[in-house]
Amino acid sequence: MSIDLNATRQKGDNKTADTQCRNCGSFVTPQFTRVFGNNRNEVFGCFECMTATEVKRGHANHPETAARARKEMQ
Ligand SMILES: [Zn+2]
Repeated sequence: MSIDLNATRQKGDNKTADTQCRNCGSFVTPQFTRVFGNNRNEVFGCFECMTATEVKRGHANHPETAARARKEMQ
């Protein structure tokens, strides 16, 4: 078996943290994802599409929770 891990690394690879908000596509830092995302390093909201307060409450770590938080903002 010869797989070049670096060449085949893609979005969705659980070993690497998201660098994109899964809701709005804005750039987020891997650190942001590790802190505010879920345990698979996925993040469903960011400071672009949610308030900082909602993100800090942990509402960015689940798609439904993030969607509910965004609805309440409007
Ligand atoms: Zn976002």
